[in-house]
Amino acid sequence: MKKENCIFCKIANGEIPSQTLYEDKHFRIILDLGPATRGHALVLPKEHAENLFELSEAAAGEAFILAKKTAAKIKEKLGCDGLNLVQNNGETAGQTVPHFHIHIIPRYKDDGQNINWVPGRPSQEELEAVRRQITE
Ligand code: AMP
Ligand code: ZN
Repeated sequence: MKKENCIFCKIANGEIPSQTLYEDKHFRIILDLGPATRGHALVLPKEHAENLFELSEAAAGEAFILAKKTAAKIKEKLGCDGLNLVQNNGETAGQTVPHFHIHIIPRYKDDGQNINWVPGRPSQEELEAVRRQITE
C-alpha cells in the first residue's frame, strides 16, 4: 500500500521523477538529492513502511540484497575507497523521511564526511545487564 502524501511513496512509484539507478516490481533505487558524497543512493521499497519495525522480513531481505548489489556497482563504476550502509529509524536516530530507506554512501579518501559515534566504556556488569534485558 502507498501512503497519501508520502514523498518516498511517490518517488518509488514513479509519480515524482528521480535519478533512478534501478527499478523492479517492489523497489526503486535513486540518487539522494542532498548527497553526503558523489553517488549517495537510497533503496526505496514501493510499498509504504515507515521504518524497519514496520517492514516485512521479505522486504528487508530483498532490500539488503539490492543494497549489496548496488554497492558493488557503485564501487566498480565510481571507484570509491569505502562505503557505508546507513539506515535510520525514528527522529531520534536521524530519520527525516518516514518511509523506510537504506542509504548507500560511497566514501572517498578525504571526503570530509563522518559517520561516527563516541564509544562508551561499559563495565562487564553493565554489558551483562543489557544482554539479559534483551535476551531474557
Ligand atoms: P533520513 O534522514 O535517513 O530520513 O534520510 C532522508 C534522505 O532523503 C536525506 O539524505 C535527503 O537528502 C533525502 N531526500 C529527501 N527528499 C528527497 C527527494 N525528494 N529525492 C531524493 N532524496 C531526498
Ligand atoms: Zn511512503
